[in-house]
This record gives sequence, C-alpha cells and structure tokens, in this order.
Amino acid sequence: MSANTALMNERPLVDMFHPPERLLMGAGPSRVHEDVLKVMSQTTIGHLDPDMITMMDQLKDMLRYIFQTSNNMTFPVSGPGSLGMEACVNNMIEPGDEVIIAINGVFGTRMAEVARRAGANVIITEDDWGKAVDPNKVEKALKSNPNVKIVGFVHAETSTGALSNASEICRLAKDNNAMTIVDTVTSLGGVPVNVDVWGADSVYSGSQKCLSCPPGLSPVTFSDQAVNFILNRETPVQSWLLDLSLVTGYWQGDEKSGARTYHHTAPVNALMGLHEALRKVVQEGLENVWARHKTVSDIIVSGMEEMGFSMLVEESIRLPELLTIKLPEGIDDGTIRSKLLNKYNIEISAGLGAFAGKLWRIGVMGEGAREENAKKILSAIKECIN
Ligand SMILES: *Cc1c(COP(=O)(O)O)cnc(C)c1O
Repeated sequence: MSANTALMNERPLVDMFHPPERLLMGAGPSRVHEDVLKVMSQTTIGHLDPDMITMMDQLKDMLRYIFQTSNNMTFPVSGPGSLGMEACVNNMIEPGDEVIIAINGVFGTRMAEVARRAGANVIITEDDWGKAVDPNKVEKALKSNPNVKIVGFVHAETSTGALSNASEICRLAKDNNAMTIVDTVTSLGGVPVNVDVWGADSVYSGSQKCLSCPPGLSPVTFSDQAVNFILNRETPVQSWLLDLSLVTGYWQGDEKSGARTYHHTAPVNALMGLHEALRKVVQEGLENVWARHKTVSDIIVSGMEEMGFSMLVEESIRLPELLTIKLPEGIDDGTIRSKLLNKYNIEISAGLGAFAGKLWRIGVMGEGAREENAKKILSAIKECIN
C-alpha cells in the first residue's frame, strides 16, 4: 500500500466541538427549543423505515396546516431555503419562459438570478428597499407582457423587514393566466400565510426562521395546477435532485399502493427535528403563534424607540419577526454588535447592501419571540450604548 507520507504526518487532532450558548435574535437561524434538539439527537433510522414513513406523513399534515393548504404535494426539500427557491423555480420554469420577478430586496434579486440560470426570460419590477412590492407595477408588467407564465415574489423580505400583499399579487397573476412562485421563508409561522386563500401555485419556506428549527430544510407546497404543469413539461427539470416528478416517489409514493421508493437519502435526524418544531407550532395554534410574534415585537419596537432608535419600515407593512432599526448618529454598528455577541451572547444581524452599517436587523422569530428575550435584548443594548 502506498501512502502519502507528508499528509499522513499532518493528522489534525481536534477537540469535540461545543458551540457557545447564544441567544439568536438575528435574521436566522433563530433560537431552537431544546425538545427539537433532543429529538434530533436520537438514533438514526433508515430513510424507508416504516416508522420514518409514518413520521413523514405527519410532517406533511402539519405543514399543510401551517401553510393553510390542502395541497397534496407538500413536503420539505432536503436543503436550505435557497434550495426550496431552486426547487420552485426549476420545476415551474422551462427554458425560454417569460417570467416576472418582483424585486424589493436581496431575496427577490436572488430569485431573479435563479430564474435566469433556469433559462427564463426575466422581466423585473423594482421597488425601493423597505417598501412592499407594488402590485400596480406587477399588473402593468403583466399587461404589457401577455405571454408571461410565472410571477415570482418574496412575501416577507428579510433584507428590509417589509411585508408584501401576497393575496393581491397572486390574484393579479391568476387574472392574467400566470402561475406564482412565492417566497415565505421568513413569513411562515410569523405572520399569516394562506396558500389556498391566495391561490398560490408554488411556495417555499425555510426551517430556521419562524419555525425555530436548525437550518437545512425547506418546506414547499405546490397546487394541483402546478403539479399538473410539472408532470407535463416539454423539457425535463434540469436538476435531477430537485425534479418533483422523481422526488415524489419518496415523499408521496406509488399512486396506487403508496409504496415509497428511494430517491435520495433524506436527512433523517433533521426531519425528526422539523417534526418536533412543527408539532410545537401546531400545539400552540397558528393564531396564538402569530399573536406572540406581534406582542414580543411590539415590546422591542417601543423599547428601541424610547432609546432613540427609529424603524425603517412603516407600521402597516412592518414584519413583526424582522425589525430593521435605523442607527442614530454616533452609534457604531460593528462595535456594538460584537459587544452584544461577546459580552451578552446575543446575536443580531447587520444591514445588507446599501443598509450596511446604517441599520440593524433584529429577528423576533419562533422561540426568539418570547417576552424574556425582549427584555434581555433591550437591557443589553441599553448597557452597550451608554
Ligand atoms: C433566509 C431566506 C432565504 C434563504 O434561505 P437559506 O436557508 O439561507 O438558503 C430566502 N428567502 C428569504 C426571504 C429568506 O429570509
């Protein structure tokens, strides 16, 4: 046997990793309940184990409740929110398709880029960062481009903290014979997401924002019309991993027998964690969960305003779960954020793009949205700025 002696002599000896105890109050990941971690640390079972299949079916039922949909095709994609975005875009778009993507921040910009890479002819509408997507611009774009097949937009823009009117944009798309791709990564479990009432066709989210689960899974749901389109595409989905017509063999099973077949090895323990995180949301009830996000968020907003900070986004479209807070003169972004992290073990997020150094993003997501956390973060910021 030949060995690479130079590398053999460079054996890295490292200690077991122990993460610090942080209070996560940034743009995600959010705080994870210890029960979720407990469930994830149980033994790994096979991805086709009958108990695994039962757990997966419950997971789908809980996702349908949280998405407020009866869509059959509802499951978590094995990957982060961006992979859910890739799954929706790559299944819904064929090369050469005309699509409208509404941009009002980082994630709309990302969706437009993913759509271009999927071969779409992308028409964009733009709104200022911190504002909602303007439905009038979407309507105008639809009227002047009658062949548009898809409208894509972000419900809750995590880069700015603005909420857009999903119901109105989906209705406009329908009225103009277009289907929709809706990003609900930061909205699901934080503010009402009503997939069936909106008539949304393909919707993706993420595990690590208001669902309070570790990152790495992306719940998605597709309307029957979307599924019908996907199963009858002229070209195969470019991505084998994300092709819904294949992955359905694992998540739905055979049409008659329901028997599941291997597609990819699903992240078993991660799915067990999501099961527990969703169970907590379902137990508390969606309306209570939304109300808790709002109550705790309001406490942080008034506390920050008392200290002289002001909000970027106007109240009517302000996301309770993601506050963009303008920094007054004399407050140094980096210094205070690192003090919060190193001295108080609290993580908040910086502004993105043009907002870098100008604002903070405080996440009030999932388990983070508890009154005791609001008190902790307000008193820590108060001490840091004085
Ligand atoms: C976080 C986020 C994403 C991307 O999710 P990842 O898990 O980071 O890939 C997409 N859209 C929005 C609105 C987000 O907040």
